[in-house]
Amino acid sequence: MNQPSLDLSRSEEIFAAARELIPGGVNSPVRAYKSVGGTPPHLVRGEGPLVWDEDGNEYVDLVGSYGPLILGHGNDEVRAALHEAVDTGTTFGAPTRGELEMARLITERVASCEVVRLVNSGTEATMSAARLARAATGREKILKFEGCYHGHGDSFLVAAGSGALTLGAPDSPGVTASTASNSLVAVYNDLDSVKRVFDEHASSIAAVFVEPVAGNMGTIPPDAGFLEGLRAHCDVSGALLVYDEVMTGFRVAKGGFQDLHPVRCDIITMGKVIGGGLPVGAYGGRRDLMMQVAPAGPMYQAGTLSGNPLAVAAGRKTLEILAREGVYEQLELVGRGLATGLMEVAHRHGRTISVGRVGSMMCPYFAPVMPRDLSDVTATDREEWTRFFHGMLRRGVLMPPSPYEAFFLSVRHDEAVIARVLEAADATFTEMVHPGH
Ligand SMILES: *Cc1c(COP(=O)(O)O)cnc(C)c1O
Repeated sequence: MNQPSLDLSRSEEIFAAARELIPGGVNSPVRAYKSVGGTPPHLVRGEGPLVWDEDGNEYVDLVGSYGPLILGHGNDEVRAALHEAVDTGTTFGAPTRGELEMARLITERVASCEVVRLVNSGTEATMSAARLARAATGREKILKFEGCYHGHGDSFLVAAGSGALTLGAPDSPGVTASTASNSLVAVYNDLDSVKRVFDEHASSIAAVFVEPVAGNMGTIPPDAGFLEGLRAHCDVSGALLVYDEVMTGFRVAKGGFQDLHPVRCDIITMGKVIGGGLPVGAYGGRRDLMMQVAPAGPMYQAGTLSGNPLAVAAGRKTLEILAREGVYEQLELVGRGLATGLMEVAHRHGRTISVGRVGSMMCPYFAPVMPRDLSDVTATDREEWTRFFHGMLRRGVLMPPSPYEAFFLSVRHDEAVIARVLEAADATFTEMVHPGH
């Protein structure tokens, strides 16, 4: 069989030069394609569900900028809002009415979020939420889960300690042992591991941080009872429950994850979708907690460009559009179409894959049984996945370049686009099953 090839020569040239001036040639590690090998296409344009690279190759975009692009590339209304903001002032360092409107759009829609502060990234949101939880409780430790990602703040760059120890160990050079020792690590979907941590440290835990749908080890929904268990441990011990919804906020439902599930958090972090493609993060929560943030209260947190007019214009317009009739139904429809389609295609070729999915975020696992935690994910067939990735890339489908990253669909990924992805998947599986034809 004819294996389609891909000309990436211009991307290769840029990448080689960039590696001399930018660490690894990229401004965020996953973009460098280290886990799949090869050259990342350097993109020049996006429109709806499609992107084009420096060499003129066209791809269906399943990356969606790792989450923000729920409306697809170049939404007309967001573009117009941005043009208007550019013409009236890109930054003031003074309060603006847009920030109030944005705070209204968030607090009216998101449960547990009575008061909200805008920041510039998800990382800033989670770092601030950790400081707030520590300030409010007077305690130092936070508990997180293996495989959950909360940005690159020191407190979150920790791995599980060895053996029976539950104290975290630094997961990057530069994170001090003393910082890591204030972070505890448990296993996602495993309440026994949570109980062990609380048995030992209950009175010093300020907060439990969790992605209510784990989206940084593919897409793993919480088991029945898992979040209820976390809530109960928090209530008994006086710790705060923090939902990190940087990925799921306004992605999985109109009001985020809490629209799908009855357990409520104390503090919530958001990012990605709420910026409409510009850099925005937010943290919010109960009024009594948020009023401890400066200048209403003593916990210091600030930002020169926080609430930036461009970012707020794009975010407001995006949230406004997402409130319209039928948006999430459409996202569910295409999400289901792609997930079931991929499983059917694999099955037709004698392979079994599992797809974790909540609405328009999903991840195909090359494993017969759906993973429930990080060790399950690391046990999936990575070699097969990598072959699938490259086969799809050569056929014009841009997947996230790591088996730990979720696909993100947009309202512009219609049936025709999904059919195109499934056609590429069919040809890729054919190639994988009959290599060398
Ligand atoms: C992406 C992400 C972050 C970090 O957000 P940045 O904007 O990349 O700093 C934090 N938490 C979760 C759950 C994320 O998916």
